[in-house]
Amino acid sequence: MIDLPGRLVLIGHPVAHSLSPRLQNAALRAAGMGIVYQTLDVMPGDLAKIAHELIDANAAGNVTVPHKEAFAACCSQLSPVAQRTGAVNTFWTEDGALVGDNTDVGGFDAAVRSTVGAPAPGSVVAVLGAGGAASAVLAAVERWEGVTARIWSRTMGRAERLAERYARVSRAEWNADTAVRGAALVVNATPVGLHDDAVPVDPSSLDPASNAFDLVYRRGETPWVLACRGRGLRASDGLPMLVEQGALAFERWFGVAPDRSVMHDACR
Ligand code: NAP
Repeated sequence: MIDLPGRLVLIGHPVAHSLSPRLQNAALRAAGMGIVYQTLDVMPGDLAKIAHELIDANAAGNVTVPHKEAFAACCSQLSPVAQRTGAVNTFWTEDGALVGDNTDVGGFDAAVRSTVGAPAPGSVVAVLGAGGAASAVLAAVERWEGVTARIWSRTMGRAERLAERYARVSRAEWNADTAVRGAALVVNATPVGLHDDAVPVDPSSLDPASNAFDLVYRRGETPWVLACRGRGLRASDGLPMLVEQGALAFERWFGVAPDRSVMHDACR
């Protein structure tokens, strides 16, 4: 008999647009679990108060933008990967305290492997963006033997800070075109393309042998993914990562694997 948490929530601001309730509730129904995954829109100033309420409710759940880093500070215990990234996207309550984990790292790693393939030793990954998602990407790059990363961000200082955090495998680049040149894998870790037809970097700057992975997902895939495929590159949007990070979170909460195909079908 699986021990269910008192509440299962997604904390963010805003959260109404998220596909996570759809995929988690499909998996919960398929597994016959009597709990509903709900969204909780939390203003940044209310996070600490909500964290106490979650402990009292013996809650578990996910954390999304803009709370991943601040929520890490609300947890009494962090997994090694949450410590490494400084961000929490998955949590649960244990002995009256919050435990934080980060399944974006494993989710990105698994999604890249299953879609465009992990880069070979000696190759370079270009990471566009230097926020929380980029940090998860770099933590995955650290796991790929002999692979290094170039980080470009429109705010250069953020790219430099992230490169310092992952100094063994990465360095910051001033220019997006230079960052992607000759890279085996180019990752969009900015929100560019979410709401319009903008692209994070001109697809014609990518090497013909590059693979492209866009963390952004939206109905009909993203303009960047479609443009990269149009140039003959292998490209994936962020949906496989969303499903995989959600499946890994489900495993942390319940100790059993969800039906990933049910999760995937609930989103496409
Ligand atoms: P974040 O912490 O806010 O960082 C966003 C990064 O993108 C920053 O480097 C920011 O630069 C840059 N950026 C924002 N707008 C830009 C623009 N118009 N042009 C160029 N750069 C821009 O956000 P995050 O948590 O890293 O998330 C980034 C994206 O990944 C979001 O769209 C999120 O939904 C997606 N994501 C997807 C998954 C998945 O499972 N598929 C998981 C996590 C995140 P500045 O510092 O200059 O603002």
